[in-house]
Amino acid sequence: MLGFDSHCHLHFHDFDKDLTEVIERSAAAGISHILIPSTDVKTSERSADIAEKYSLYSAAAFHPDHLPDDSTADEDWSSLKNVLLRPRTIAIGETGLDFYHNTFKPEKQIFWFRRHIQLAESLGYPLIVHSRDAESEVLDHLPEKPPVPVILHCWSGDQRLTDVAVSRGYYIGVDGPVTYKKNGDLRSVVSSVPRKQILVETDSPFLPPEPFRGRRNEPANTRLIVMKIRELQGGSESIESTSFTLWENAMRAYRLHPENRRADVVYRYGDSLYVNVTSKCQNSCIFCIRNTADGIADYNLRYTQDPSDQLVLSTIKEFPVEKFKELVFCGFGEPTLRTQLIMKASAAVRARGVRTRLDTNGLCTSFMNEDKVLELLSSFDSVSISLNASGAREYNRICPSEVENSWEHLMRFIRLAGRSHIETQLSAVKNSGADIQRVTALAKRLQMPLKVR
Ligand code: SF4
Repeated sequence: MLGFDSHCHLHFHDFDKDLTEVIERSAAAGISHILIPSTDVKTSERSADIAEKYSLYSAAAFHPDHLPDDSTADEDWSSLKNVLLRPRTIAIGETGLDFYHNTFKPEKQIFWFRRHIQLAESLGYPLIVHSRDAESEVLDHLPEKPPVPVILHCWSGDQRLTDVAVSRGYYIGVDGPVTYKKNGDLRSVVSSVPRKQILVETDSPFLPPEPFRGRRNEPANTRLIVMKIRELQGGSESIESTSFTLWENAMRAYRLHPENRRADVVYRYGDSLYVNVTSKCQNSCIFCIRNTADGIADYNLRYTQDPSDQLVLSTIKEFPVEKFKELVFCGFGEPTLRTQLIMKASAAVRARGVRTRLDTNGLCTSFMNEDKVLELLSSFDSVSISLNASGAREYNRICPSEVENSWEHLMRFIRLAGRSHIETQLSAVKNSGADIQRVTALAKRLQMPLKVR
């Protein structure tokens, strides 16, 4: 069975003593995926740690009952965004409104809710929404045509509000209470939701389904909620089939499904931040990581469709780039294929006092004149050029290219980099079959430093 517990607070201390056993039990019960939502910076970091350790996924946000103090709001918001840079932190949540606990004034809750909505839209991240005694109000603030998936966690809106939510394409999170005897209205609502918009979630350690009420909830109990959803949706298909539908729904809701999979526009590597602008490249290098993987270090970098200029620029704008040594324009492909975008983005980053570097295969002289290439180079603080060979024959063998005379273009680009006085480094890959001694000698003749990776 494939199962997805789409909302499970494994970060809470209730799981400190037996977290590994809880996750093992859920795997034995067929739960292949778990999303851990969070409530503030600390829990977002803990959720990210658990997600990375156990190959799960997490979300980061301020819960409406755990909003930052006004005196540290900016700093806390920036720290939260920093967590969103972690490779398995793939959604924003849970945010929303809670007029039952009313821990904070409605105006403050609404301010933070709207802030999270805007951030989700800027980054293209799914949004997980908490609502308690505020179902109508959350719908008032959410966009009618959301550009990102919206997940109404543990939804308890009435039929009218549910119809509105469903018509806008939101996902409806269904939890343990659907199994409670007194909740006939909730069951009626759940039976009306289109199959493809339902998510199953345990909200562990809270809300255990029958017959475990009064005990700590855990993701292995997902199956009990799936069984109830199956019954409410007609009960004609197998439990495995219902579970698979719900798994696929969650994969879509969290943009993990091949149909709408999100690739990471930015990722951390060492003390630098990398910007992934394209999956296209003119070369097919024999050592290219794209031949064997979809990304690095748990980041998904392969685009099915390259990101819009707007998404790249708004992502860079949102993230705290000042915390990094430099911002590197690269790609799971060749960044100079998006010349205008990287020049514009680099200017925006440098205006914030952060150094930028361009990592390139050096073939852009095949489609740009020398003046344009010099203008491009002047947009960055440094450039790293993939040399990879000591001559045309070796280059064509190791880095076959659709560009005619690719080696000559590469040499022309290197000469232009020398002329532009930009800080330049050449690079070559070990064990690629290149004669590294001869590559080193060539770099010396070109009077440029060589990094052998
Ligand atoms: S130039 Fe870079 S991205 Fe393109 S194929 Fe070679 S290694 Fe891969």
